Amino acid sequence: MTTSTSVILPWQDIHTVLLDMDGTLLDLHFDDHFFRIVVPQSYATANELTFEQAEKIVFDAYRAVEGTLAWYDVDYWSRTLKLDIPLLKKQVAHLIQVRPQVMPFLKALHKSGRALYLVTNAHGKSLSLKLEKTPIGAWFNDLITSHDMGCPKEDPKFWSLLQKRLEYDPDHTLLVEDSEKILAVASEYGPAHLLHIAKPSSQREPQFSQHFPSVLDFSALPSPDLS
Ligand SMILES: [Mg+2]
Repeated sequence: MTTSTSVILPWQDIHTVLLDMDGTLLDLHFDDHFFRIVVPQSYATANELTFEQAEKIVFDAYRAVEGTLAWYDVDYWSRTLKLDIPLLKKQVAHLIQVRPQVMPFLKALHKSGRALYLVTNAHGKSLSLKLEKTPIGAWFNDLITSHDMGCPKEDPKFWSLLQKRLEYDPDHTLLVEDSEKILAVASEYGPAHLLHIAKPSSQREPQFSQHFPSVLDFSALPSPDLS
């Protein structure tokens, strides 16, 4: 198994860095708590159901669109569940937290002169809330959502569209992600350098990837401006 102590990235070959947001830069606990607790609870209240009844309906609705753009679409969930999803997110926005060692890593990457892009499946409204609550946004050359591209990162098409838009050289580009499914697609169609985040949520046990270099957090990497 690859662990955080054995990952050395060839920084001298990496000119562009693509960073996922939720679970990579930000604590996935916010999203976990929101979708597993807040949404079923609100649905139960609105429809006079028990939590368990609401949970079943809501989780079935999640499964129906898992891995598609709709799954990440705040407006889709507001329409489908008849709940004000952006408002509900604001009510638990105190759970939006930057993961350990992220800010020093972003500053070091910026200082090193590499092109830095946020590449997220998050909907524009979720992205706006997270940029309002955290200081991560200032360090990027550009912020790209899959909604801008018309397909999620799980779709091979996303990577050809992104390559055309950013004109990055795949051989000299690093993608950092907590989703192994997305890393698997990217390994065929996207950047050559891949890094997995093994502890996306502060409330879950780490799970190191068996397929990709995998770290707990960015403190496990040598600083990009020193290598
Ligand atoms: Mg993620």
